[in-house]
Amino acid sequence: MPSFATEVKNELVRASTRKTCCQNAELAALLRMGASMTIGPAMNLGLNFVTENAAVARRVLQLLKANGQVKPEVTVSRAKRLKKNNSYFLRVAPSPQVRPLMESLGMLGDNEGSVGHDKGLLRRQCCRKAYLRGAFLGGGTVNRPEAKAHLEFVANSYPFANTLMQVLKKMDFPVGITDRKNNYQVYMKDGEEIMDLLAMLGAPKAVEQLEVARNLREVRNQVNRLVNCETANLQRTVSASVAQVQAIHQLKSRGELDKLPPKMAEMARLRLAEPDASLSELGEMLGISRGAAANRLRKIMSLADSSPGEVK
Ligand SMILES: [Zn+2]
Repeated sequence: MPSFATEVKNELVRASTRKTCCQNAELAALLRMGASMTIGPAMNLGLNFVTENAAVARRVLQLLKANGQVKPEVTVSRAKRLKKNNSYFLRVAPSPQVRPLMESLGMLGDNEGSVGHDKGLLRRQCCRKAYLRGAFLGGGTVNRPEAKAHLEFVANSYPFANTLMQVLKKMDFPVGITDRKNNYQVYMKDGEEIMDLLAMLGAPKAVEQLEVARNLREVRNQVNRLVNCETANLQRTVSASVAQVQAIHQLKSRGELDKLPPKMAEMARLRLAEPDASLSELGEMLGISRGAAANRLRKIMSLADSSPGEVK
């Protein structure tokens, strides 16, 4: 079964990107996540992109073809071991056309791989969404709906991670950044915000799955709260009753039970007969209020405590 992150990516690649501006923004982010440049004869540049996700490979291929300047080829390397995924290699052989493509995507210039050039790609809101989608497709991951909410973009350079963080912050998403194993992670931990982001990027089915899981979790918590509350009430009733029964036995052993006023004697006998009953139930059996029942039991307790003949 594919992971939830893979399912999200499979859904995201179906999001339509008709506008050229957005296609370039998405492609730029995708290539930043997983591409490397090669240098061929006459200093011509080439491009390699590797991914384990077939849908992502198709998306990069489609975007490169839409761009129209270069001719990509794909090869698949089959997984040699079980539980390992196939790898998809996209290769654009070194050619004079690669340089202008890289330049238009902001990947060349004074500082190769820097993201200062992405400002142009990120000017419009539509393009910023496409850029984030490309980044998620290239290096994003998200926990399955039953697990703790967590989504992250794994970038291999700080400037790129920082750009992602700025774009997300500009859209009011609460994000954090951390580093691990030479990579930078831009992460989100709020379930609702993650749903909003995935909806914006074009994965409504994934959002639905997250919603179902969230609702189930809420119902389960509610049931747990009710059960805990009932258990606590029951516990209180039982421990109060144990003390009352002890007090009544004390009065009885001292021969004081029969000397009680009739209403209190009646209550004492009823408590002995019904040790599990709540105050309301006792009150009901005697045709009095819960408060009156509580009052009589309190008096019985204090009589047992304070009687002169008491031996401790
Ligand atoms: Zn756009």
